[in-house]
Amino acid sequence: MKIFTTRQKLHEYLAEMRLNGKTTGLVPTMGALHNGHISLLATAKRQTDVVVCSIFVNPTQFNDANDLEKYPRPIESDIEKLKNADCDVLFNPTVDEMYGPNETWHLDIGPLEHLLEGRTRPGHYQGVTQVVAKLFNIIEPDMAFFGQKDYQQVLVISRMVELLKLPVKMVMCPIVRDEGGLAMSSRNVHLSADDRQHALVLSKTLNMVKEQYQHHTLAELKELATAFINSEPGVILDYFEIADGVTLLPAQPDSTKVVALVAARVGNTRLIDNMILG
Ligand code: AMP
Repeated sequence: MKIFTTRQKLHEYLAEMRLNGKTTGLVPTMGALHNGHISLLATAKRQTDVVVCSIFVNPTQFNDANDLEKYPRPIESDIEKLKNADCDVLFNPTVDEMYGPNETWHLDIGPLEHLLEGRTRPGHYQGVTQVVAKLFNIIEPDMAFFGQKDYQQVLVISRMVELLKLPVKMVMCPIVRDEGGLAMSSRNVHLSADDRQHALVLSKTLNMVKEQYQHHTLAELKELATAFINSEPGVILDYFEIADGVTLLPAQPDSTKVVALVAARVGNTRLIDNMILG
């Protein structure tokens, strides 16, 4: 596996690959890799010739300095995992390599960035579009692979791709869960054994809502789900929404895709999860 820390060297390497007719797939991550990330890499390996994984804990998408500071950064074990997954290229830049001083520009992709996660984490998606635009610019991937785990992020980046008419194909990969159903996340390392137990209420609730989807109104389902999560000790619900899968506004009878999304604090850790209902 080749490891690059500068934009220029990576760009040069990929330009040569492109000249040789190779397609490039990008898997952007913030590291602390788990099987969710590895599944994205496996999908990228199947669909493109040269797979680039980026590991960059992007400061501009954090609105909580403490969250940024305690974000796990186990780079040596990440490199091992990437080698085992047969990743071709790791891009692991410093903050100075990615950002100039006082960069405040951002893209306005419309209302999507202010809903749900955007409401609790103002500016989060501005940081996400900022860094992904930079990564797309440096790497010029043919395809980019994102997890459904961050459903709203996929919509936000897809909207950016559409608005800027970027020549990259977006691929959304399914959520990888552990045996109990908990969606894998780099933040799960912060969960105590008790927290982990309590956190299962999120996927249990999503499964219950999916099972009951045909039998209740959306308002009833939301009420059931909220009550179920609120009854779990150690869990503080941020939001539970049943949304239109395209706009993320509350689902309507004519919504062609409907998704349930949840965010909650479990112990000191904020978790998100979602499930496509139909
Ligand atoms: P992160 O490192 O958390 O920024 O995630 C990098 C990419 O991995 C994003 O596209 C996430 O949606 C995706 N991802 C994170 N957790 C999972 C998971 N449990 N299953 C599938 N994809 C995931």
